[in-house]
Amino acid sequence: MEINNLNQGGQQIKVNVADQPNVECENCKNIFFDKVTIIKKISKLLVGTPDDQLVPMETYKCAECGHINKEFIV
Ligand SMILES: [Zn+2]
Repeated sequence: MEINNLNQGGQQIKVNVADQPNVECENCKNIFFDKVTIIKKISKLLVGTPDDQLVPMETYKCAECGHINKEFIV
């Protein structure tokens, strides 16, 4: 897989994703993750709706120990 992106100078940079380091679990160094969904509850007082709003967001947990790396928590 390749990612094409523009850097700040407007030049196109190409990144070969397979060459990049794997993210490891902070807890057990495992490199496999399961996709999980966390649900944010947004107070009705913040958004002015009659009920609290539930907003699902996807993140990843370690497939081995279930740990969620800090960088995955939004
Ligand atoms: Zn782990």
